[in-house]
Amino acid sequence: MQKHVLMDTSPHIEIKHITQTTNKAVFVLYYQQINESNDAIVKSLQFYFKSKELMKDINSGKQVKIYSLNEDDPFTYVIVQLATNPRQDGANIARKASNKIATQKTEDNSMSVLLPHNYTIHDIAEFNFGFQLANYRWTYQSIKEGGKSSSFPIHYLYLITPISQEDYLSQMEQKWNLKYLHHLVKPILRLRELVPTRPNIATTGFMKNYILDIVKGFGDKVTSTLIEGDELLTAGLRLIHAVGRGSIHKPFYSCLSYKGKPENDKYFALVGKGVVFDTGGLSIKTTSSMEQMYDDKGGACTVLETFRAVVELGLPINVVCSTAWVENSVGPDSYRVSDVIQSYKGITVEILNTDAEGRLILADAMSYAQDKFHIQEMIELSTLTGIIKNALGRYCGVFTNRKGCYSLLQKVEKITKEPFWALPLEDQHRDLIKGNVADINNSSSGRVGASAAAAFLECFVEKKVRWMHWDIANVAVTDKSEGIYTKGGTGFGVMSLIYYMTWDIVSKELKELKEENDEDDN
Ligand SMILES: [Zn+2]
Repeated sequence: MQKHVLMDTSPHIEIKHITQTTNKAVFVLYYQQINESNDAIVKSLQFYFKSKELMKDINSGKQVKIYSLNEDDPFTYVIVQLATNPRQDGANIARKASNKIATQKTEDNSMSVLLPHNYTIHDIAEFNFGFQLANYRWTYQSIKEGGKSSSFPIHYLYLITPISQEDYLSQMEQKWNLKYLHHLVKPILRLRELVPTRPNIATTGFMKNYILDIVKGFGDKVTSTLIEGDELLTAGLRLIHAVGRGSIHKPFYSCLSYKGKPENDKYFALVGKGVVFDTGGLSIKTTSSMEQMYDDKGGACTVLETFRAVVELGLPINVVCSTAWVENSVGPDSYRVSDVIQSYKGITVEILNTDAEGRLILADAMSYAQDKFHIQEMIELSTLTGIIKNALGRYCGVFTNRKGCYSLLQKVEKITKEPFWALPLEDQHRDLIKGNVADINNSSSGRVGASAAAAFLECFVEKKVRWMHWDIANVAVTDKSEGIYTKGGTGFGVMSLIYYMTWDIVSKELKELKEENDEDDN
């Protein structure tokens, strides 16, 4: 079994509390013309350097020298971040700026950044979060045995701000939403590392060991059930078995649970589609449609890394992580078009397209979790339909059986900046999956494929359970670097899931934060 070589995450970040000035020349790079209206920067520079001459230079060209920094600083560059007012524009400015900074080349892999002097601890946390995500390059080498790991161009980051490192670090641990910015970088990067991992490495066996390692690391904090190969039939998980049985790599189902709120017996269920490679099965895909099918495990990887983050952070919530892992392959025992298979729930399904396999394995994964645990709310993630991108571009499509779930998600979206859009799920879509010989069929009729897929999944949601289906087919990986995203896996969903599940705690903190900032601004 090949081992996944995980990168050593995150650069060394040190906060420098600087007010002294001396005579070392360093470059200031900047990305917009500074004019009178860029008040915060002017103020920020004046605050640090107390030099009016400097401002003339800065206004005159794209690159200027500053003769006034501490001479024992190991600077390569100082980059001036042109936030006009971080409190108004919040995370976006900090994140955009951090990406620009992380993509600069430096000779010694170190970088010093002068932050606007009015940056709060929250702003710095946002900046660090964005910086670390932008400072990551996935490489194919990272997944080879003993190969070079994915890289972090900047190894040392020095932040220059009036806030001291001690104050920063101690405050970071006092509020959940600051903790998230601090501690969720790792799970997001792990997810980015995992999703693009190619199917010759990330087989179902590889993923099983990956999960077993996680479980082992958590000891008795986490309970686990793993059901593999023909045992899936005994357990009644016939749809997962059917989809996976055509491959020499055995299908399996994994159910992990964590009880962070022992006085409550209700759980969130996070359910994910883990198709490690999707050929389409006997309804085989064309080569070009198959190219990116290593990412068809994106949903399961996302809920897995989110679950891991919940346990690592010790969040006060109960969570079940239910994932189904298969390779949808062509083989002598592949399931066929026209097969009728009974699901775990008992609903019979006529197979009309073996490439519509995601909804099949999810149906069993959702049913199992609801059968074994008291599920109050279930969020299911999958790279389910290619057609979603025609409607939504780089948005995650959302389907739900409760309007309230989506309105809460819209609040979360304002904080996490991960874009969602709700799509309809009505009788016209439910009609599309009505069966002839079985209860329902899995045809993906193309025209309203994303909604029809959601209608299929809805059959497996118990009435009392609040449910959302997130179709992440067009947001799990990206082919261009932009904002906090770099080419490869995006890590989409971890932040939104965590904020969503703990919204009653973090929303209070965010409200307090807003009140504090409003007071400061007055
Ligand atoms: Zn498929």
